[in-house]
Amino acid sequence: MLWIPCPTCGRRPVEEYRFGGELRGVPDRITDPIERDVDYVWMFDNVAGVTTERWFHQAGCRRWLTVRRDTTTDTVLG
Ligand SMILES: [Zn+2]
Repeated sequence: MLWIPCPTCGRRPVEEYRFGGELRGVPDRITDPIERDVDYVWMFDNVAGVTTERWFHQAGCRRWLTVRRDTTTDTVLG
């Protein structure tokens, strides 16, 4: 089971959270503002390894967290 540490509530099970997606930037080569929005919303890297993600603590303090997670081991790094 995946446990995510919440700064307000402490270590809580993943079932209490809602996944908000990868936290990533848009490549500089995309200059058109509309294309940048589309890339930000729809294009994911789906990294096999360490990635930075947003999680919403839906059943707890109802705050957004930024979590670094290794997707190959499902380990939260911070
Ligand atoms: Zn919380």
